Amino acid sequence: MIADHIKMVEDKIVAACKDSGRNVEDVTLIAVSKTKPVPALQEAYDYGCRDFGENKVQELVDKFDKLPKDIRWHMIGHLQRNKVKYIVDKAYLIHSVDSFRLAQEISKEAAKKEITVSILIEVNVANEESKFGVRCEDVQQIIEDISELPNLRIRGLMTIAPYVENAEENRQYFEKLRQIYVDIKSKNIDNVYMEVLSMGMTGDYEVAVSEGATYVRVGTGIFGERVYAG
Ligand SMILES: *Cc1c(COP(=O)(O)O)cnc(C)c1O
Repeated sequence: MIADHIKMVEDKIVAACKDSGRNVEDVTLIAVSKTKPVPALQEAYDYGCRDFGENKVQELVDKFDKLPKDIRWHMIGHLQRNKVKYIVDKAYLIHSVDSFRLAQEISKEAAKKEITVSILIEVNVANEESKFGVRCEDVQQIIEDISELPNLRIRGLMTIAPYVENAEENRQYFEKLRQIYVDIKSKNIDNVYMEVLSMGMTGDYEVAVSEGATYVRVGTGIFGERVYAG
């Protein structure tokens, strides 16, 4: 079941790459496994999946302990500063850095463990009030500020597009994020490596791929609907 779903998603990514003249190797599928039990992740792993996305620190840590060590764990949810210490050495990439103070905390904890932590800056491209993320006009400044911090590596940008019925409605936001990414890349800021664009979820990942996504984050499309306990 899960394997079939991954295969289907992969096929669609391949098709979207082909349509937009992109290399399939430049797009990585993250299986967003939040709320899903370990056996479901194991099934995805057995199929060949090595990138998993979680949005809660405790859940990421629990699953980290129970699953194979070659998994790359992506922290994609809002991160509180007091929980940073639990995941700096477990997350392969933190997608959701949306303030200088959070970056400072990650830098501090990374220094303690003598590691370098890779992060993305989360951008609220559509300016939705309900969403976390830096506003478009503030991205460059925050990147310049964060780039001064030790033990951190800024690798790119992430966004969560609005929930829409028709994925094409989100094309404008993916396009905009890519534009910001290209602009910042062209500035060649020290210690900033613009190589990752994390955008696209179950409803819109094909559009995101055609606009340049290097990571797509797919949950429902792989594991089915999430059920949240009351
Ligand atoms: C839950 C989540 C996803 C996956 O959403 P689906 O619509 O189930 O694919 C992707 N990105 C983030 C940040 C999420 O929290």
